[in-house]
Amino acid sequence: MQAAIFRHAHEPLSIESISIDKPKDKEVLVRTVASGVCHSDLHFIDGDLAAGKRAMVLGHEAAGVVEQVGNGVSLVKPGDHVVACLSGFCGSCNLCLSGHPNLCEARYVARGRGAEPRLNQQGEKLVQFADIAGFAEQMLLHENSIVKIDREIPLDRAALVGCGVLTGVGAALRTSGLQAGQTVAVFGCGGVGLSVIQGARIAGASRIIAIDQFAGKLEMAKESGATDCIDGTEDNAVEQIRELTKGAGVDHAFEAVGLPKLIRQAVESLATHGTATIVGVPPDGALIEFPFSALRPECKVQTSRMGSNRFRTDIPLYLEFYRQGRLKLDDMVSRRGRLEDVNEAFRAMKAGEVARSVLMFD
Ligand SMILES: [Zn+2]
Ligand SMILES: [Zn+2]
Repeated sequence: MQAAIFRHAHEPLSIESISIDKPKDKEVLVRTVASGVCHSDLHFIDGDLAAGKRAMVLGHEAAGVVEQVGNGVSLVKPGDHVVACLSGFCGSCNLCLSGHPNLCEARYVARGRGAEPRLNQQGEKLVQFADIAGFAEQMLLHENSIVKIDREIPLDRAALVGCGVLTGVGAALRTSGLQAGQTVAVFGCGGVGLSVIQGARIAGASRIIAIDQFAGKLEMAKESGATDCIDGTEDNAVEQIRELTKGAGVDHAFEAVGLPKLIRQAVESLATHGTATIVGVPPDGALIEFPFSALRPECKVQTSRMGSNRFRTDIPLYLEFYRQGRLKLDDMVSRRGRLEDVNEAFRAMKAGEVARSVLMFD
């Protein structure tokens, strides 16, 4: 099968022929139909996240159709439509059992050390990014990395819910503690930020202030539910947020890019007792500094990992919101391409031209 291979940072991915193993025990072989291009993949290409020496197949926001299942699989059968999620869980550790499977660290969904690799190229092991590797015609996944979805849902839109939408909507609905009537600021309006805005709208926020440096993204933010927009290039977002909220600041600020400067602004824009939720992932080793005096009384700063998801229930729930017209996903797919277009999709993402590009395999 064809896959996009990552070898070194700052180099384009190359489309090559690779081999995929058969499903064992609790594994599921999925024919990839749609694969979203997400910032976490870009982090490797930009060298912000260190990659090992082995070649790797990136991509983790994917949906497809089950082709074959291992003997131990009871969740799905061939022909079922599934979405992959990088919050693969074990189901039996303390974090899983206390309702936080998104924080499971058991690496349960990977094959053990010394096992035959799921992906190889002429016998050379390839790394399966996030135990998914969605930039390939097929994916070999543990059943705890997938959820079965309704066949009526278009798979390109479903794919987005596996990472970006799950992360953003979940940050608002699950992590933040946002209550109806509260005020919100969202820093960064890419796929994740737009999803935070939608989550805040669904939760009943009274005001949703969007901040981005691209006018086109602010336009999308408005369509997603933002009530006010701030041009991030002017560098006075905190002041503008205070003005818009009569000096109070916002009850909830979200940072959806992973830039230290924006994280600082998110914290500085809080109201007394407000909460900043950091959704973006800063580069390895990044320091976030702010003067203590910038912290409002009893404010909180927290991170959100993949929207605090319990994805087996959250992905179908968010797709039900989509079916009802409450979660808008159609406009979020700004561009569709083929596997060969993956490098162009990364360029468009960096240039701020798209909410999401989705690679289609049919
Ligand atoms: Zn992602
Ligand atoms: Zn676990």
